[in-house]
Amino acid sequence: MTRIEVAPESLFGPENLPYGVFAPPGRPFRVGVRLGDCVIDLAVALDDSTFAATSLNPFLAQGSARWHEVRDRLLALAAADLPAAAVHSLAEVELKLPIEVGDYVDFYASLDHATNLGRLFRPDSEPLLPNWRHLPVGYHGRAGTVVVSGTDIVRPRGQRRTDSGTPDFGPSRRLDIEAELGFVVGAGSTLGQPIDIEDFGAHVFGVALVNDWSARDIQAWEYQPLGPFLGKSFATSLAAWITPLAALAAARIPLPAQTPEPLPYLRAEAPWGLDIDLTVHWDGTPVSYPPFARMYWSPAQMLTHLTANGAATRTGDLYASGTISGPEPDQRGSFIELSWGGTEPIRVNGQKRTFLEDGDEIVLTASAPGPGTRRIGLGEVRGRIWAARERDD
Ligand code: CA
Repeated sequence: MTRIEVAPESLFGPENLPYGVFAPPGRPFRVGVRLGDCVIDLAVALDDSTFAATSLNPFLAQGSARWHEVRDRLLALAAADLPAAAVHSLAEVELKLPIEVGDYVDFYASLDHATNLGRLFRPDSEPLLPNWRHLPVGYHGRAGTVVVSGTDIVRPRGQRRTDSGTPDFGPSRRLDIEAELGFVVGAGSTLGQPIDIEDFGAHVFGVALVNDWSARDIQAWEYQPLGPFLGKSFATSLAAWITPLAALAAARIPLPAQTPEPLPYLRAEAPWGLDIDLTVHWDGTPVSYPPFARMYWSPAQMLTHLTANGAATRTGDLYASGTISGPEPDQRGSFIELSWGGTEPIRVNGQKRTFLEDGDEIVLTASAPGPGTRRIGLGEVRGRIWAARERDD
């Protein structure tokens, strides 16, 4: 038997316990929880074959009563001696995408981000379009290109508008990040049955950091009138660890005021947001600190809205908040905002930078209040840019 020692200042202490899918050297992938710098093999520790699966989906599909039962057992296990065969060093395991992603939806729920992008893309009109304060604006993204943290990102090629007004084709010159929080649907819902705003907890299992890579030059040319397409769909990075909502109880905060009051289906008894602080690291240099606490639309409003027409949800569906930005210049969650459309370069390791260059590595980290004075960490999301692949234009 063995006991996992966790440093008191660790952001992955016994009150956190995020879920991932890992493989010990030479062994198959299976479900584990992270404790400190170790991974607990749940199929062994709980003697339960649900966790011998290569994704979290079978466990998620068992529903919220089961999620809470397992978490209660894990909270007890984290303080106990474990069979040595159930404990692995994080440094020695391989991590994969923790969920089989069903559908992927990308929202646009930050008032500061939507205002900044409105000013950059439409400088001569009101920054917010008339619908923005009435519904959480979003679109369906490409689930099949959601990749796990650590996956290299190949610079996308596409049509870029030239000064003559006609396009050429080539590698994106304005490759950007979007620092977002993703929500994982555990228990799905039936076609034709919208999810009531008070039923959020029965459907959403947990959260994970998302970097929604964006090619601004491709996006700016293609997006009207139907919205984001190839400027977004080449890759979306998801953290390897899903933090259960139950671990974020102390991070719940009242939602910022909404004016005008939303329509009745978007009103909750006690609307809440999450006090999660992100940091964007560019080649090791922290360049921004996006505050999720400022988000205008709540996680529950996003889920309710995306099913308001009767669209079904499935285990493994992922929806992301949209870029998280705050009111201060160093709280912007994308480089198009941080560099104000490329006109105000950012200092990174002594160099002036605007958009991503080949070889750049971006890491998003985040933490939130935990029990007492402790904080809990979200799993990082990391990605490095590779040169566009050669081809004939
Ligand atoms: Ca996005």
